[in-house]
Amino acid sequence: MIAFGPIPSRRLGRSLGINNIPPKVCTYSCVYCQLGRTIRMQVERRAFYEPDATFQAVQDKVEKVRAAGEVIDYLTFVPDGEPTLDANLGHETELLRPLGIGIAVITNGSLIWRKDVREDLMRADWVSLKVDATREEVWHKIDRPHGTLRLASILDGMLEFAQGYEGELATETMLVEGLNEGEDCLGEVADFLARLGPARAYLSIPTRPPAEGWVRPPDEETINRAYQILSERVRHVEYLIGYEGNAFAFTGDVEEDLLSITAVHPMREEAVRDFLARAGADWPVVQGLIARGQLIEMEYAGIKFYMRKLNYRR
Ligand code: SF4
Repeated sequence: MIAFGPIPSRRLGRSLGINNIPPKVCTYSCVYCQLGRTIRMQVERRAFYEPDATFQAVQDKVEKVRAAGEVIDYLTFVPDGEPTLDANLGHETELLRPLGIGIAVITNGSLIWRKDVREDLMRADWVSLKVDATREEVWHKIDRPHGTLRLASILDGMLEFAQGYEGELATETMLVEGLNEGEDCLGEVADFLARLGPARAYLSIPTRPPAEGWVRPPDEETINRAYQILSERVRHVEYLIGYEGNAFAFTGDVEEDLLSITAVHPMREEAVRDFLARAGADWPVVQGLIARGQLIEMEYAGIKFYMRKLNYRR
């Protein structure tokens, strides 16, 4: 199915997905990929579907969704593979423009060293680039790139793209236990992101069954530390750790709201106290959430933080 959704996305609101790549053709074979191991590794761009057929499928879906009285915030290229492998990506973006909806692309960025790929991505309103590691050996272990790809060229291509891009640029860094969550490694990622200057840098963890059974997310302490390391150098850092459903909600329920906020970023103790005071609640709310295993308390640089407990199995 070329067009699917819309699905709720914390980053993009209600996002109608565009699957412009057949499963699973990619330039990477990430150890955490929720689509499993890559069936066809390739780096050559080519046409997969007729652009007119892609446009028609999306237009039909948009009409149906609108007829049902629903809203679409973004049309998002988020296929079962790497979207920039599609040689028609730029053309398709132009075809979709008259629908009057923002266009987003979630890419691993591995082909961004190519001028034609940068030009295609420039046409989108919102672009997310994958930055799991800036060290060659770590990148090889986690993203398992096609043999002809070079990390230095990719990172240079990202910087060049960011300089000229007028849309909203986001990055996503997936944390995998034992691979890229060390302080040195993340410090270098943070340095790179500081140069790139994304509007938002997202930190995520594998929450769905990964391609390799041994892949584990780091524990909450490590995720909090990663957040702090990135936040020291990058302005807007957020978690993407699998709570898309209620992250927008303001329920008026102090427990739910506290869990929603701490699912996006850890809160300092003083911020939690301030929040409770405004909500007319007391500290036992926090103690109750901790006792029920929904919230955890941890320390970083002598400051106490609170974070929603992750609900994955280890
Ligand atoms: S880049 Fe995306 S689609 Fe490709 S292997 Fe990695 S996670 Fe899967």
